[in-house]
Amino acid sequence: MARFNLEERTFELGKDILERMEGETPSIFDKQWWTGVMMEWCMKDPAFKLEMFRFVDVFPQLRSSDAISSHLKEYFTRPGQSFPKTIQLGIKAGSFFSGTIEKNLQRMARQFVAGENPEEAFTVINKMRNESLAFTVDLLGEKSVSESEAMDYQRRYLDLMEGLHGLATKWTDHPTLDHDDHGPIPRINISIKVSSLYSQISAVDLDNSAKMLHERLKPIFLRAKDIGAAIMLDLEHYALKNITYEAFYRLLEDPDLKQGPEMGVVVQAYLRDSAQDLDEIIKRAKKAKKRISIRLVKGAYWDSETVHAHQQHWQVPVYQEKTATDHNFEHLSTVILKSKGAVKLAIASHNVRSIAHAMAQAEALGLPKNAVEFQTLFGMAEPIKKTLIKMGYRVRDYTTVGEMVPGMAYLVRRLLENTSNESFLRAKFVEGDSRERLLAQPQPQNAPPPTPPTPPWGGNTPLTDWRFPEPHRDFSKTLLNFEKKALGQKIPVVIAGDKRHKTTVEPSLYPADPQVVVAECALADSADIAEAIAHSRKHWLRWSQRPAQDRADILRKAAKIMNDRRADLAALQVFEVAKSWEEADADVAEAIDFLNYYAYEAERLAPGIRLGEEPGEHNLLTYQGLGVGAIIAPWNFPLAIVTGMTAAALVAGNAVLVKPARTSPACAYAMFEILLKAGIPKDVIHFVPCVGAQVGPLLVEDKDIDFITFTGSMEVGIDILQRAAVVQSGQRNVKRVVTEMGGKNAIVIDDDADLDEAVTGVVKSAFGFQGQKCSACSRAIVVGDAYDAFTARLIEATRSLHIGPPTSPRNLVGPVIDEKSQQRIMGIIEEATQDLTVGICRKEDLPAHGYYAPPTVFLDCPPQHRICQEEIFGPVLAVIKASTFEEAIGIANDTAFGLTGAVFSRSPLHIDYARMHFDVGNLYINRGSTGALVGRQAFGGSKMSGVGSKAGGPDYLRQFMAPKCTTENTMRRGFSPETL
Ligand code: NAD
Repeated sequence: MARFNLEERTFELGKDILERMEGETPSIFDKQWWTGVMMEWCMKDPAFKLEMFRFVDVFPQLRSSDAISSHLKEYFTRPGQSFPKTIQLGIKAGSFFSGTIEKNLQRMARQFVAGENPEEAFTVINKMRNESLAFTVDLLGEKSVSESEAMDYQRRYLDLMEGLHGLATKWTDHPTLDHDDHGPIPRINISIKVSSLYSQISAVDLDNSAKMLHERLKPIFLRAKDIGAAIMLDLEHYALKNITYEAFYRLLEDPDLKQGPEMGVVVQAYLRDSAQDLDEIIKRAKKAKKRISIRLVKGAYWDSETVHAHQQHWQVPVYQEKTATDHNFEHLSTVILKSKGAVKLAIASHNVRSIAHAMAQAEALGLPKNAVEFQTLFGMAEPIKKTLIKMGYRVRDYTTVGEMVPGMAYLVRRLLENTSNESFLRAKFVEGDSRERLLAQPQPQNAPPPTPPTPPWGGNTPLTDWRFPEPHRDFSKTLLNFEKKALGQKIPVVIAGDKRHKTTVEPSLYPADPQVVVAECALADSADIAEAIAHSRKHWLRWSQRPAQDRADILRKAAKIMNDRRADLAALQVFEVAKSWEEADADVAEAIDFLNYYAYEAERLAPGIRLGEEPGEHNLLTYQGLGVGAIIAPWNFPLAIVTGMTAAALVAGNAVLVKPARTSPACAYAMFEILLKAGIPKDVIHFVPCVGAQVGPLLVEDKDIDFITFTGSMEVGIDILQRAAVVQSGQRNVKRVVTEMGGKNAIVIDDDADLDEAVTGVVKSAFGFQGQKCSACSRAIVVGDAYDAFTARLIEATRSLHIGPPTSPRNLVGPVIDEKSQQRIMGIIEEATQDLTVGICRKEDLPAHGYYAPPTVFLDCPPQHRICQEEIFGPVLAVIKASTFEEAIGIANDTAFGLTGAVFSRSPLHIDYARMHFDVGNLYINRGSTGALVGRQAFGGSKMSGVGSKAGGPDYLRQFMAPKCTTENTMRRGFSPETL
């Protein structure tokens, strides 16, 4: 007998499949239909495709034919676009599309969605069984923003199962659909996207998220066991992969589920670590003595995984080349087939080569046809399904049920898949690729994952990647260690290296449990301040005259030390100011970024700028230090802001006195020590914690202070500006004052906004770190029809937030900074409750101890109400109604502040309008208003939110430098260097 050649057999089977499909076209490419025409245009013109997909995405949110028409115009008839004339003219005339678009898009969605409700889908499923096509049903709905939505999703699954149960009892046994090589298999097959089952699912809360999923999935699994259904857990984004697998293992090992149901999970072959995952899944299945299914897919989130990884500076988790994914797919399918029945294989691909390879591999292992199942997507690849069924294989259609709105993300993904250059269906049915190309053996890819381009300053420090279990274990340990060993630190005043422990000290308390003293801080008196200023005056010039590169190198060294101590510094923040794990980690990363960025900036400015090209003169604009500065810092970004302000002033060639906020001295002291260790001379940096209101003015008013860098509240900032303006006797410099102050930031939600995104963005911006970010959203201004749906979801989303101590990663909302702040916020809520509608106030859910304030939403707020005008600096959100987008922007601008603002809109015209008219220092479009990154979102406000150039931006350093223009006459007795 001839030796079995896997490659030859793969080609033979592939050829057979291709021949059997000859002359057929999948319905999505059928040009007799609107979808087919659209697909053709999309494939021909990437710009059209982009607008088309964007339009499809916004379409369900458009509630009137006017809205449809205006969006069509905005997307397809902008100047410079060269789309087919028929489209442009038709849209402009308002005739071509607006009448039929709705019907056509519904039809397009219908192509991929089996029904808007289970009943509709049941008709389709019955028909499928008659055509010898098995099914797995998935309910649309990818994002639950609240627990009520998540619970509703769970209920919908349970209802769906009841319906299917009733249906299945009427079916007669089907030899191919209802049996595999081990015997009968469930007729009912359900697929679940787990993210919809728990609204607070998050990588940073890995363990608890898996636990919650187990809890939410268990009733579904138990019911499946009763009715004999199989359940498959889908995989979504990489951020949820380990959570999903962990939940799956818990279900696998759950004693109540020992006897069933049949369960399975997805493996995505585009993931570089999928082989390790598969090994673990097989190991666990064997250990649990359960024969599970693996649905092997290529992966549907390639673009977003790549973009997300680049944005975060994390390793890209997916293969870059399609051929490498295909190669891995074949490797994984082989591993599954060789598992000797421990796991069963479902090949979920429309790629004939991948299908043929699995068939050939199964043959090589002597497995019967029914040992492998092929899965296809509803509404796609009909010729492939038909062929496989004819060849005697079991084919299961992934059948999606649900409404248009949650369905759009799904639809866009399917459209992307089918129109992408990499799509097998496109290659075969549109491009008509040769058989050899279609069936070519895929190649492995050994190249390392790509790294995004690094900016000259080095780029942002990647945040801790919580998607993996190790950082969780490590940080939990760090927190425990901190609690055991690092509490109660004694912080001195330090003048020129002299540490002064004083009799007057102030405790820094853990806001979640004020019994816990994080640190005890000595307080500087006026003599200390005077001494520090005098000392600085003497020494600053020498420091200023050192080469900029020396100073920059010290900053880089400090960045390195900080990076080595990242976890400890984050733990300190968790205790000192009650930052959540993620927020604390991000603050340390930002501090490191400031050091690296300003080091680069100092070097960039050092050579000076040549002005003018005229011969006979040489003009050079150079920068030098100003002298001695006071750094007055807030507590809310307890390491990043103080580090940014201090590092910038130092590297620019100045001496500084660092005055930390009273509630975060330990974080500031950690920075101070790091800077000294890195090599900042002790003569030019002094640590002067003091009571701002009492001793602070001395810092500001002293004749020998040349500049003040302040970040904090408007009241204090304005007071400092006024004091600094008064010229003292003997003063030799007009004081420069950089003040970054408060905000009353608004997010505008347009009536076409993606509400999933808008609700999540607003909740995170309003309640993250308890609303104590200068960039926090405190007003949500909602346009027109979006109001009711937005507020209903917002309230439920707020109700779903976990409140509690920041030591647990489960809690998004912790305590506010101190008792004074807590009392003030409670007072404001009480007062506003008298005359406003309370949407929700989580007063009842606050822990008994600690400085907690309730996340609160007020509805229908008049824009001039105190709650809409004053900075509260706590978890309080005012929702305001506007009838038009322009009115919303007007309301947003109508406060004294102008720090951050955001807009959720899918109207290009409105986005342009916001760019032009939204009067803020930092404007965010289609994202929340917090989380600026150094070097990318240079940060700082306008109006009463601040005077100064943006932190983390290219203008910042110059504020601490005196520019000097030197002009040399280069002519000597009639000759100049240029003419020689
Ligand atoms: P705060 O104004 O109470 O204190 C800021 C600093 O000033 C502290 O170190 C404080 O001790 C000191 N201080 C107080 N009175 C002083 C005085 N009379 N003279 C000199 N120093 C004095 O602010 P905070 O509570 O620490 O921080 C919260 C405020 O900071 C909010 O208003 C927030 O919006 C703002 N903030 C703004 C930005 C920004 O970039 N715009 C960033 C973070 C925080």
